[in-house]
Amino acid sequence: MHTKTIQELSVLLHAKKISASELARLYLARIGNSDLNAFLHVDETLTLAQAAQADARLASGASTPLTGIPVAHKDIFVTRGWRSTAGSKMLANYTSPFDASVVEQLGAAGMVTLGKLNCDEFAMGSSNENSAFGAVKNPWDKTAIPGGSSGGSAAAIAARLAPAATATDTGGSIRQPASLCGVTGIKPTYGKVSRYGMIAFASSLDQGGPMAQTAHDCALLLNAMTAHDPRDSTSLEPGKGGDQEDYTRKLNEPLTGLRIGVPREFFGDGLAPDVEAAVRAALKEYEKLGATLVDISLTKTALSIPVYYVIAPAEASSNLSRFDGVRYGHRAAQYNDLADMYRKSRAEGFGEEVQRRILVGTYVLCHGYYDAYYLQAQKIRRLIAQEFQQALADENRLCDVIMGPVSPTVAWDLGDKQGDPVANYLADIFTLSTSLAGLPGMSIPCGFGQGEKNAKRPVGLQIIGNYFDEAKLLNVAHQYQLATDWHSKAPL
Ligand code: GLN
Repeated sequence: MHTKTIQELSVLLHAKKISASELARLYLARIGNSDLNAFLHVDETLTLAQAAQADARLASGASTPLTGIPVAHKDIFVTRGWRSTAGSKMLANYTSPFDASVVEQLGAAGMVTLGKLNCDEFAMGSSNENSAFGAVKNPWDKTAIPGGSSGGSAAAIAARLAPAATATDTGGSIRQPASLCGVTGIKPTYGKVSRYGMIAFASSLDQGGPMAQTAHDCALLLNAMTAHDPRDSTSLEPGKGGDQEDYTRKLNEPLTGLRIGVPREFFGDGLAPDVEAAVRAALKEYEKLGATLVDISLTKTALSIPVYYVIAPAEASSNLSRFDGVRYGHRAAQYNDLADMYRKSRAEGFGEEVQRRILVGTYVLCHGYYDAYYLQAQKIRRLIAQEFQQALADENRLCDVIMGPVSPTVAWDLGDKQGDPVANYLADIFTLSTSLAGLPGMSIPCGFGQGEKNAKRPVGLQIIGNYFDEAKLLNVAHQYQLATDWHSKAPL
C-alpha cells in the first residue's frame, strides 16, 4: 500500500477499499519504525482525528481527489497543534496559534497531516546537516546526506513514509533534495504559493511547493496549494499570474516538436561524469519522445553563487532579527541587561550557519558596503533573469524548456562537507539562477550514479520553464515518467 501514488490511493479511498484512518495508521507505523530522522514531530491523536474527518467526508461524497491522502509538512510551515521549529533550537518549543496558508489549503482539501519534517535550520543548507535536531539520512544509503534544506521531505517520500510532502525552495531546496533522494519535486513561479505562515528565510526567493513520487501527483497537490492570498503581499493576484488553474490539464500532450534548451554552462567542469551520463541519457529519451535539443548558453550561471550568497543572507539578516528572545523563541536563562539578553538568546538559539549568514547579511547591507555588494548583486540578478528570457520568452523562444542536472554530484557522505560552507554553496550552482529569476523548476529521477558507492545514489534531471509554465513542465515530466520507471524505484 505504501508504495502507491496519490493518484492510486485516491482511487482506493473513493472505492472504499481502504479508509483514511487505516491509511494514516499504516504510515504512522512506518514512520515509527524508521531510523532516518526525517520526522521531527508526530502526534497520532491529531492525525487520527483528521483521518476520521476525512472518512466522514469521503462517506458524504463531498470529497476532493486529495481527501484522506496523508501529507507531511516541512517544519518551516507553521501548524496549529504540532510544534513548528524551522529546524532551529530558537524555536524548539514553539507552537503556532495558526496554520500556514499551505497547511490550511491542503487541510481544506481533506489531506491528513502525518507530522512535521526535518530540515536545515531556517532552510539554510544543502545537506540537512544544519538542522539543530540532527541530520536526516538518505534512504538509499544511510551514510549519505539526503540533500537540503528539504531533506526530511525528500527522504520521507523516497522511503515511502508519506505519499506527499510540502517543501520550500529558496535556492534549490525542493529540487536538490528531490534529486539526491530520487523523488519528484516542483518549485513553482515565485508568488504562486502563499508564503503566509512559511517561516521566512529570504523573502524575495522563498517559494513553497510539493514533493511526491510522480509529476501527476505534484500536479494534484499544486491544484490545492496555489491560490491568491491577501495575507502574503507577494502572492500573485488573479489576472496577473495568480489565477486558479488545473495543473493536470496538459498531462496528455505529446512532446513532438518540444525544443529543449541545453545550457553549455550546466555541463562544464565540476559536473561529475556519472551525473552527466544519467542526464544525457534522459535527454536522449526525450529525443525519442519527439523533442529536439537546442544548444543554449546561460553565461551568468557561475555568478549566481556570489549573487545568491549576498542577497539571501541580506534578507535573512533582516528576517531573523525578529528572533530577539522577547516575543517568542528561545530566551537565555541568565543575562545582565537587555542587550545582553538579545546577545545571549541569539548566540544560544541560532546554529553556526545561521549566525554566519546573519553576519554576512548585515555586513553587505552596511552603509558603505551596500552599493558594492547588495546593489551590485541585485543588478546581476536582473541580468540573470534577462538571460533566461533571451532563451524562453515568446519573442525569442530559442527553446520551450531548459534541461540539465540539478546537482553536480550524487549525494555526498554525511560529514563530508560539514564545516566547509563554501563547498556546500558551490554545490548549488545549477539551482540558484532559476530561483534568482523567480522561474519554475522541477527535479525528476533519471537514474543513478556509477561505481560501487554511487550506484545506489539517485540522479535528478532539472526541467526549467518560463514564468507560469508549471502545467507544461509537469506534462514534460509526466511524459518521461510514462516512458521510464525511475520514479517508481524505491530503496525498500
Ligand atoms: N542551499 C541553499 C542555501 O543554503 C538553498 C537553500 C534553500 O533553497 N532553502 O541557502
